[in-house]
Amino acid sequence: MKELFDGAVKFLEDDFEDYKDLYQSLKRHQEPHTLFLTCVDSRVVPNLITNSLPGDLFVIRNVGNIVPPYTQDSNLREGYLATTAAIEYALSILNIQNIIICGHSDCGACSAIYEDEEVLNRAPYVKKWVELLEPVKKKVLDLKPKSKIKRMWLTEQFNIEQQLENLMTYPFVEERFDRGELHIYGWYYIIPTGEIYNYNMITKEFKPIKKDENNPK
Ligand SMILES: [Zn+2]
Repeated sequence: MKELFDGAVKFLEDDFEDYKDLYQSLKRHQEPHTLFLTCVDSRVVPNLITNSLPGDLFVIRNVGNIVPPYTQDSNLREGYLATTAAIEYALSILNIQNIIICGHSDCGACSAIYEDEEVLNRAPYVKKWVELLEPVKKKVLDLKPKSKIKRMWLTEQFNIEQQLENLMTYPFVEERFDRGELHIYGWYYIIPTGEIYNYNMITKEFKPIKKDENNPK
């Protein structure tokens, strides 16, 4: 814990000083341009991997970067309130222009869905939450992957696709997207190489992000 307390001092003495003006300008309001929805995994550091600054990203994190599908059923709605309220806040109050759903390699949530019942029963909240990944699991198992590694990356990639689909079930997301006021991306971050793959919604493929004239402006 000492590192974190020392880190707080270092932040104030060094890093904060470097961005003093920026922090002053953010004193009373935020205008983040992008909602970055990712996993709680400690190895995914949104500002670091996007080279962005305080005030740029509105970050939502949960186990497995899941977007609970939109529902009018009040019981279900209340079960997943933290994530859905944050998405609603980002769009309806902050008028965010971009959404990135960022999954990653070696995702614990994506492997949890294949765990034995007995293991999952030790973490009943996780068990309940990752039930939202059942459609992903079904799609993967239908393809009968031959190895555990293949099953894993298929699950991680299908998960990103699924969460993009779930996002579009929200009327306030779909309306803005259809009007061209909202851009939506699916990213797959590979921890050991630092690469990020971007999902192409037309070809349904993930391609590594590179220096490219076609990258969004
Ligand atoms: Zn994860």
